[in-house]
Amino acid sequence: VQAAFRSNLSYLLELIGSGKESLIFMKKRVRHLASQWLLATRSLAQKLKGRRRDQKQILIHIGFLTEESGDVFSPRVLKGGPLGEMVQWADILAALFLLGHSLKVTVSLKELQNNLGVPPGRGNCPLTVPLPFDLIYTDYHGLQQMKQHMGLSFKKYRCRVRVIDTFGTEPAYNLEEYATLHGYRTNWGYWNLNPKQFMTMFPHTPDNSFMGFVSEELNETERQFIKSNKASSMAVVYGKEASIWKGKEKFLAILNKYMEIHGTVYYETQRPPEVPAFVKNHGLLPQHEFQQLLRKAKLFIGFGFPYEGPAPLEAIANGCVFLQSRFNPPHSSLNHEFFRGKPTSREVSSQHPYAEDFIGKPHVWTVDYNNSEEFEAAIKTIMRTKVDPYVPYEYTCEGMLERIHAYIQHQDFCAGASPLPAKPNGHAVPSSPSPFTLSPNATHLVWSYNTSSALHVWPPVSSMQVWVSEAGQACTETCQEHGLVCEPTFFEFLNKKDVFLQLRIACDSTESEMSHLYPALAENVQECYFQKEPLLYSCAGYSTKYQRLCPCRDYRKGQVALCRDCL
Ligand code: UDP
Repeated sequence: VQAAFRSNLSYLLELIGSGKESLIFMKKRVRHLASQWLLATRSLAQKLKGRRRDQKQILIHIGFLTEESGDVFSPRVLKGGPLGEMVQWADILAALFLLGHSLKVTVSLKELQNNLGVPPGRGNCPLTVPLPFDLIYTDYHGLQQMKQHMGLSFKKYRCRVRVIDTFGTEPAYNLEEYATLHGYRTNWGYWNLNPKQFMTMFPHTPDNSFMGFVSEELNETERQFIKSNKASSMAVVYGKEASIWKGKEKFLAILNKYMEIHGTVYYETQRPPEVPAFVKNHGLLPQHEFQQLLRKAKLFIGFGFPYEGPAPLEAIANGCVFLQSRFNPPHSSLNHEFFRGKPTSREVSSQHPYAEDFIGKPHVWTVDYNNSEEFEAAIKTIMRTKVDPYVPYEYTCEGMLERIHAYIQHQDFCAGASPLPAKPNGHAVPSSPSPFTLSPNATHLVWSYNTSSALHVWPPVSSMQVWVSEAGQACTETCQEHGLVCEPTFFEFLNKKDVFLQLRIACDSTESEMSHLYPALAENVQECYFQKEPLLYSCAGYSTKYQRLCPCRDYRKGQVALCRDCL
């Protein structure tokens, strides 16, 4: 069946159900963004005119909202608890619905079981029951519940699962055998999924898929209105919880010399003691009132926590400058409680690395807060700078619809459900000419003609370039340095001796092993290493011992998830 774009969101609001504060928050958000979503849908429909799109049967099981996993979030919706996850789920629901798919939404174990067709009281039944869904979007909590209640079907159908995973899961932490052996410990379990099945809130490691959310865009009238109503000396502090103000007296005092400081910190009856008296605290605001506050403000200022939420993008979308602290040394699972046990070794260089790396000045200032002069100078300059409201395309409704459309039509993790072991030396196979050519300056390889094995690969191999990293560098960075992005899907094409030879790398000896660092070479010993386990192909891995072979691809400006020919 072909999917037909939808032009009305009211049925989705019914599907979401009610009863929990979290669901009410999500519905309000969908309703508030409705006209923007519908415009974007029309615009994407134009762009994809005539394109065949299959309608999928989709289950959306929001595990963290189930009572069975404790549902710690719903009771805190009105009390300053985290809202980022709910923002994202609301947007995922809207996008899947508008793209024309058939949806079921569950937020309890019972509904999950009913929809999976698990017979009552047969939670652990060993039979495989046919799964009535092409795709299941869930989170780590939901994954655990499905494993417990699907019996053998879980293994059979896990390739249909997509895990919404804010901070991402790197390949080294995903493969159970490897993680256990090498001490990649996590609190989140080892699922042996294709790492691309994990979908993140921001484009973190390209080993995962970037799901994102949306930030409201302003129309021309609103833009004009903002321009004439900005109060150049009004600042809003990032964070709904009082604890983030602790120990920030020094910065607040400096800021208070120049600007009127506003906060949206939750309180019950009295001003929280952490918030100084000179701050105008509005209490936690409904989302659209928070946006109104941002429209008037000039500066949105972060004090280091929360990490990587939606609010800075909303501030920038409403014409604010976002000022945040640089983390030196960077925060990670090794040195910060918040990240401990998370399945990633990513080093977080500031409160909001996406804002720092993908947006930057004039919208985003990342400064060393330990240096009061630098901090003060930034505030003074920001007050004088004019900035326009800005939303990166990938965070607009159309950008999100476009990306999810592409994933749904092209990503298929069931095709090679039990992945073939990686073939290191192309030798066993009768030697076919290499599909790569060396670039004229001999720095990298480009894909030059199609082979039958590459025809069905997505993203298309025509977007590929092979680069060699410096020792100690991850492919994520290597590709970035060349204006490209690492694409783990392509690793299989370069895990071959021919490719090393074409890059003029002499391999005195070769080895094939399980390692999230391979394919790679150790230069001084002229040894080449091949990957034995496809699930371990990793953009994120790095070690000073190795130079890595990196599969890079091009990307669309403002839509890093998609290559030029990806749609
Ligand atoms: N927000 C809100 N009221 C407020 C402050 C923030 O509704 O007073 C919303 C904001 O619009 C954003 C969401 O809270 O979409 C999540 O914001 P944040 O970046 O703080 O991330 P979190 O830590 O909550 O996940």
